[in-house]
Amino acid sequence: MVTSPGAPADIDPLVRRMRPFGTTIFAEMSALAVRTGAVNLGQGFPDTDGPTVMLTAATEALRSGHNQYPPGPGIPALRTAVARNQQRFWGLDYDPETEVLITAGATEAITAAILALCEPGDEVVCFEPYYDSYAAAIALAGAVRRPVTLRPDGDGRYAFDPAALRAAVGPRTRLVLLNSPHNPTGKVFTVAELTTIAAICQEHDIWAVTDEVYEHLVFTDADTPHVPLATLPGMRDRTLRVSSAGKTFSCTGWKIGWASGPAALVNATARVKQFLTYVNGGPLQPAIAVALDLPDSYYTGLRQNMQTQRDQLVAGLSEAGFRVLVPEGTYFATADISALGGTDGIEFCLSLPERCGVVAVPTQVFYDEPDAGRLLVRFAFCKRPEVLAEAGRRLAGLRPAD
Ligand code: PMP
Ligand code: GLN
Repeated sequence: MVTSPGAPADIDPLVRRMRPFGTTIFAEMSALAVRTGAVNLGQGFPDTDGPTVMLTAATEALRSGHNQYPPGPGIPALRTAVARNQQRFWGLDYDPETEVLITAGATEAITAAILALCEPGDEVVCFEPYYDSYAAAIALAGAVRRPVTLRPDGDGRYAFDPAALRAAVGPRTRLVLLNSPHNPTGKVFTVAELTTIAAICQEHDIWAVTDEVYEHLVFTDADTPHVPLATLPGMRDRTLRVSSAGKTFSCTGWKIGWASGPAALVNATARVKQFLTYVNGGPLQPAIAVALDLPDSYYTGLRQNMQTQRDQLVAGLSEAGFRVLVPEGTYFATADISALGGTDGIEFCLSLPERCGVVAVPTQVFYDEPDAGRLLVRFAFCKRPEVLAEAGRRLAGLRPAD
């Protein structure tokens, strides 16, 4: 470490509230895959590019002067396309002028919203396992997370106990942070579950922030289609709905996301967002506007391909001896390692590259109650069929002899 004379080199300069957060598990596991040459089914990113019209539009934008700061809330063409898309798929009406904000991915929208809405000591209710940036964003705000645990219900679906949700809400609760379709479990929250969440938000007069980055990746055999919480009675005006282009258009590195909701919530989020990144992705914004307007066949094709890849991975994992919880949506399948003699997902994932040349993510890092996820590991299936086939061949080597 380079230090200036007199600098307190022995003191960790990091603020206390961030110290529990090391390197994200995704970066750690991708680095492990690179180091060991393993097939990377850890971090959720596709290994193919998004639609050609989108790539062409970005190239044209780069070459035609879209290289300076876009407007703070995002370019009008993208805000309008985001509003049009939500009307087309979910029947939700948002005014692109005042009710849509373009952000640096869903991550920034969620972080800015939490920083905007929470005073130190306020509480955020979320469902665990939770996406890792939630915990860090809540900590940065000086707020407190109140997780409600999702557990397999015996029918191969994850569910939460409504009484546990009610118990998690108290006088300091400012918002419920809901991710559906849910990473890492692949769960899609049912209308009955959403109705419970909506009732609690209204009874306690709290906001909802919804992370819907997998909104277009719900499979045809899911128990329920995706239903945005904002479409439930009384919820539109207390919900900030967040999504992003990364998953829908296979461009996770572009980091174009958005938040939509009542003007007051969007405005509060924008007030913080302007001092985080100010703006991002100037030449990428017009390209995402083009992509959002692609016909329904694009969205159906994306889902069909992903569902085929899911089936391929799930079959490979089952063949190898894992007990797999078949996901209803997203990029991810969760597998129980106990049938393979695993007793701890972290140890299992750290040894997996050496044992068979595959990288996965231990689910327990997404829990406050690690026992609930100790035996679970997450595999990503957003990869080409030949990559999944190779992973399947490698994983087959784990199968205990009969
Ligand atoms: N939320 C969830 C549930 C995710 O899986 C991800 C990863 N795409 C994000 C948020 C972050 O999205 P973005 O890359 O658009 O910031
Ligand atoms: N969303 C991706 C995942 O869950 C990773 C995003 C990231 O690396 N921050 O794997």
